[in-house]
Amino acid sequence: MRCPFCGLEDTKVIDSRLVAAGEQVRRRRECTHCQERFTTFESAELVMPRIIKQNGEREPFNEDKLRSGILRAIEKRPVSIEDVEAAIGRIQHRLRATGERELPSGQIGEAVMDELRKLDQVAFVRFASVYRRFQDIDEFRQEIDRLANHASEQR
Ligand SMILES: [Zn+2]
Repeated sequence: MRCPFCGLEDTKVIDSRLVAAGEQVRRRRECTHCQERFTTFESAELVMPRIIKQNGEREPFNEDKLRSGILRAIEKRPVSIEDVEAAIGRIQHRLRATGERELPSGQIGEAVMDELRKLDQVAFVRFASVYRRFQDIDEFRQEIDRLANHASEQR
């Protein structure tokens, strides 16, 4: 790790301990070049990456939007809510596992399609036909909202 004082990369760990109830590792490091000491904290990054929309805007990952997109695709299909929740969990795990802080929205769409393909072929085709036409999950969401509004107006 690079020394923040002299910029050389050769530093050694002289002390390492768990802090924050075991959620973090605190490390004391010493530069082998200038002998300055500094502290680093390491923790697992479990935050979801932010989403890069096709127009370049960033927005926070939204689990509710993901869920509503999937629920719309499986409407009237023999898919249990437990299976949907498990799929949502796997999608989030997959997005986090990239280690990226920001991901293009298209990667979410691909992850959703992979899960729907396993869950239900009809749901997969529904989602894929809409998604591939829009090529953007945000446009897809807007379409879902539009359909939902339209349906409620008809009641
Ligand atoms: Zn140094």
